[in-house]
Amino acid sequence: MRKVIVQKFGGTSVADTEKIKNVAKTVIREKNNGNDVVVVVSAMGHTTDHLVKMAHDINPNPSSREMDMLLSTGECVSIALLTMAIQAQGHKAVSFNASQIGILTENVHSKARIVDIKTEKLKKNLDEGNIIVVAGFQGVTEDGEITTLGRGGSDTSAVALAAALNAERCDIYTDVEGVYTTDPRVVPNASRLDIVSYEEMLELAHAGANVLHPRSVETAKQYSVPLRVRSSFKLDNMGTLIVGVEQMEINKPVTGVAADSSQVRIVVCEVPDTPGEAATLFTCLAKENVSVDMIIQSYARKESKTNDIAFTVTKEDLPKTLEVLEVVKKKLNAGDIKIDEDISKVSIIGAGMIDRPGIASTMFQTLADAGINIKMISTSEIKISCLINKEDDTKAVKALHDVFQLGCDEVAEVKGTLPDV
Ligand code: ADP
Ligand code: ASP
Ligand code: MG
Repeated sequence: MRKVIVQKFGGTSVADTEKIKNVAKTVIREKNNGNDVVVVVSAMGHTTDHLVKMAHDINPNPSSREMDMLLSTGECVSIALLTMAIQAQGHKAVSFNASQIGILTENVHSKARIVDIKTEKLKKNLDEGNIIVVAGFQGVTEDGEITTLGRGGSDTSAVALAAALNAERCDIYTDVEGVYTTDPRVVPNASRLDIVSYEEMLELAHAGANVLHPRSVETAKQYSVPLRVRSSFKLDNMGTLIVGVEQMEINKPVTGVAADSSQVRIVVCEVPDTPGEAATLFTCLAKENVSVDMIIQSYARKESKTNDIAFTVTKEDLPKTLEVLEVVKKKLNAGDIKIDEDISKVSIIGAGMIDRPGIASTMFQTLADAGINIKMISTSEIKISCLINKEDDTKAVKALHDVFQLGCDEVAEVKGTLPDV
């Protein structure tokens, strides 16, 4: 029986027609190995950022339904062009958007979760010898509404397709040579990891290492999809393999460092110190689909019987959060609401920190030595995050990368450019 390989190419890999022709060669090479190939592509270059900018030039607060209508078009351009490139090189290929296949998602705009993928059409077309090219990042609801999976979501489209088709593996081709100990744009001598566990990768992705969309890692772990991140420009490099933690030998306490400046901190002051107040606050936010990351409730003031609740949400969710808080504030009889937008979360991640004391204190001391103030702290079994001022995040990442000895002697090659919008 033939094996199914899913390949995903990000924006930089399909940024212009020459690059698309090269991607076609990579795809055909896999097909010529005797495999069935399903390819997922992102929008070309910085297309999605340009579409977002156009929308905001026209309407500062565009509806999320129309944003999904707009943003989903980027991937439709690249699937058609890549399919034409494969056909021009003499191979059978066909492109599909999410609606044509039935990549079903929940009925939520801008960050929908995939709930099911219909495989009949895919299997039929593979059986007919076609290479299949699928639009990443998009889905469709039961009612036929177009949705998107959140920025960077094409990775998740690829892994979900790999799971649905029981693929042999899912290869994520991108503009760096794999997963590094930190963003190689920030620390050029970051080391490439040969292998990393799903658990660590999930924490890294959530902590801001946007080389993989967090939900892609979650899905890969859930369905045990062998996942590889590799360079679309250096095809012979094997990149980074992401596997179950049991397959790993852990010798360092910290595997990687990440920073995320996409969040804002909100403080709801003087919340009455009675049972159910925090539940009311966070239930109202959850009903509006706002995900909250770090949460701190201060020690209750004896005199006023109130405490302050601080939490972080993404900048994207800030307008919705403020709308909710206007209502909740009255319900709770709380005080002022303070917003801090110039923050960044720096995190260290490593399965090796379990049962190894002193890792947190080393992190805090390193930040202190660099003159960096910590505003909030949160931890999981394999992660410690500190909220700091945004202006300090590069300094913090470099210092932490150094202190945990994660660097190497080589300089990493990064192909893509940052968006100019
Ligand atoms: P694509 O368009 O291929 O999906 P992305 O821009 O989404 O590419 O992801 C690749 C980028 O992720 C890299 O160029 C790099 O700057 C960034 N990145 C952040 N953290 C890491 C990390 N730990 N390892 C590798 N790349 C990282
Ligand atoms: N094109 C979308 C984005 O830029 C999805 C992706 O590239 O994964 O976020
Ligand atoms: Mg990406």
